[in-house]
Amino acid sequence: MHTSPLDQPGTGDAGGMNVYIVEIAKRLAARGVEVDIFTRATSRDLPPVAELVPGVLVRHVVAGPFEELDKNELPAELCGFTSGVLRTEAAYEPGHYDLLHTHYWLSGQVGWAAKQRWGVPLVHSMHTMAKVKNAALAEGDTPEPPERVLGEEQVVESADRLVANTDEEARQLVELYGADPARVATVTPGVDLSRFRPRAGLLRSGTEVARRRLGLPRDAYVLLFVGRIQPLKAPDVLLRAAARMVEADPALRRRLVVAVVGGPSGTGRARPEGLQKLAGDLGIADLVRFEPPCPQPELAEWYRAADVTVVPSHNESFGLVAAEAQACGTPVVAAAVGGLRTAVRDGESGVLIDGHDPADYAAVLARLEAEPRLRERLARGAVRHAHRFGWEVTVDRLLEVYTGALTTVAQPTGALPR
Ligand code: UDP
Repeated sequence: MHTSPLDQPGTGDAGGMNVYIVEIAKRLAARGVEVDIFTRATSRDLPPVAELVPGVLVRHVVAGPFEELDKNELPAELCGFTSGVLRTEAAYEPGHYDLLHTHYWLSGQVGWAAKQRWGVPLVHSMHTMAKVKNAALAEGDTPEPPERVLGEEQVVESADRLVANTDEEARQLVELYGADPARVATVTPGVDLSRFRPRAGLLRSGTEVARRRLGLPRDAYVLLFVGRIQPLKAPDVLLRAAARMVEADPALRRRLVVAVVGGPSGTGRARPEGLQKLAGDLGIADLVRFEPPCPQPELAEWYRAADVTVVPSHNESFGLVAAEAQACGTPVVAAAVGGLRTAVRDGESGVLIDGHDPADYAAVLARLEAEPRLRERLARGAVRHAHRFGWEVTVDRLLEVYTGALTTVAQPTGALPR
């Protein structure tokens, strides 16, 4: 409900969830499972129905104004959105849809109503959880409101299956939200391994080609941040670490490049302008290159061009960026939080760091700069590790979850008369 699979990820509310939905929908369709995706119409110009690929339709539901709304404004549009979804189904013969899979709590609320009306199972993916987010707030971040917590609890209670990205998220669903463990399944997200791969399998020469294309110096030490620019992702930690590195080793100033790829998301100091100002205050403005969000084929070039991708987030339910970077042969230095502990294998495909102290990041990044062989070993480990995360495996598991939900939910639960 709050973002569209047709949006460019990496800015605003469009991120990993959008990628997830597109990737699984395409693959489900390829296996003969037709998918309709409902999303809110944010412009009058959007067609009521758009084909994403054969077998996958994106349906634009008119609910509220034709403009982007802040997530906190969306609960007011739930009623209109739900009725739009129900009206679409009512135009078909009963039984048109076999199963609902909702993503994020707002859509989960819609699924809760639709499940009862249609008598079909509801599978829900939280993607992020208010209770977890609020426990790891970055400075300047606003806590998630109590309405969201309550809304999530209702969805957890009503869903027939809950899909978690990692075992840790599965545990949090049980411990923090009281989910029935029998209804929780861990399904690891994937990476498009045909898109995110080291060029021609040669890590070093792939880096050189990518740097030429992106206009980066051949001999630079390139640190990359990719993602929505928001306090939760802590891009400021990377800038502060970079400043410390050049302070400790002034010669590095000639070689260091920090690339930040992504657009603004939410409010607060971590917006691109705020980061630019921070770079200026830290005296490293000339070393930082800001790039707007870009499509994934271009993003793959950024990963290949980088020596290290840095993911200092305060929380990630998985962290697709970390998996994609590794698939391109780039080691990842990440905060040891949430799904990043699954996405990155400490000491094999990258380095996990406890906490967000820039000094710790500077120390690890300086060591990697000084030890190219260690970087190369991690780069090889990164490719190996990323190969655990193909989307086809994700879809295999999801189909098992769907089948389980369909066989155990034989009867409409509290269906309203049609
Ligand atoms: N992304 C993109 N272009 C960009 C920046 C990001 O396509 O310029 C994609 C990226 O490939 C990844 C997703 O956005 O698949 C971000 O997912 P992640 O799980 O890292 O973070 P989230 O946005 O879900 O917090």
